[in-house]
Amino acid sequence: MGKGLKVASLHQNNFVLDLGRMFSTTNAKKLHVLVIKTDYGVELLKKLSESISDFGARIVHLQFTTARHGQHAECIAFIDLANSKTSSRNIEKFFKKLRIAKSAQILSHNVDKLVGNNHHFPLEILGERAVIFGKDVYAAIFKGIRDEFGTAGETFLYYLGVESGIESYMFISEFVRKRKSEDFIKAIKTFTKSLGWGDIKEIYVNKDVGNAVIDVYNNFECSLSEGSKIPYSRFYKGMLTGYFTQYFHEEVKVEKLKCIAMGDTYCKFR
Ligand SMILES: [Zn+2]
Repeated sequence: MGKGLKVASLHQNNFVLDLGRMFSTTNAKKLHVLVIKTDYGVELLKKLSESISDFGARIVHLQFTTARHGQHAECIAFIDLANSKTSSRNIEKFFKKLRIAKSAQILSHNVDKLVGNNHHFPLEILGERAVIFGKDVYAAIFKGIRDEFGTAGETFLYYLGVESGIESYMFISEFVRKRKSEDFIKAIKTFTKSLGWGDIKEIYVNKDVGNAVIDVYNNFECSLSEGSKIPYSRFYKGMLTGYFTQYFHEEVKVEKLKCIAMGDTYCKFR
C-alpha cells in the first residue's frame, strides 16, 4: 500500500509537516489508528517500534500526547498492515496485554479511502482551542468575500485582520516578558510560521521612528492569488496593522511594497 498512501507535497524547498490527523489511501482496510494509554512513554516507544516491525507492519505517523488533568499520556500510531499477516485485532490484543499500556484500542473507521483520528477532540494549541481549515475552505472564505462583495469585501477583510491582530497580540503577549521587546518580534515570527500562516524571514523594527519592515514568504492569503496587478493581502495586512498599533501604542499605517500575487518572491510590508 506504500504507493497508495498520498502524502501532500505542496511546497518545494520547505520542510512540509503533515499534521497527521487523516491519511488518504487506496486501501483503508489496511491502514489503522492504534491508540495506547500509558505512563511509560519511552518504554512504550521502544516496544512499539520493535513489535510493529516484528508484525511486518509499518508506522506511517506517530504522535504522543502529554499527560495532564490526571489523564494518562497517549500514543497515537497510524499503522500500515499492507505487508503484514497479522490482523489489526491481534495487534490491539498484543498491546492490551502489555504491562506498560493502560489500554489499547484500534479506532474503527468506515470510509473507503480515508483513515482519520476521530478519537481526539477538540484540538488545542497552547491551551486554546484550534480548528484546522484546509485550503478548500479558507480559499472559499477569503476569496469568496472578495468575489461576492468586491472592494467592500476587501475593506471588511482588512478590518477583520486588524481586530485579529489586536487579539493575537494580547495572546502572544502572554508568552513574552516585555511587550515592546525583541522577544515580541521573535514571538510573532514563531507564531506565524508554527501556525502555517506564512514564513516571516525578516522584521526590521525602528522603535525611535516607529517604523517596521516585514518580509513574509508564502503567506496563505496572497498565495491564493496570482497574476494580480496590485498587492493582494487585506486580512494579513490588517493583522500586521493590529500587531504594530499595539506594539507602538499608536495607530500605524501599513503599506505593501511587494507581493507574491504580483510575481514577487515574497511579500514586503512597511
Ligand atoms: Zn502579498
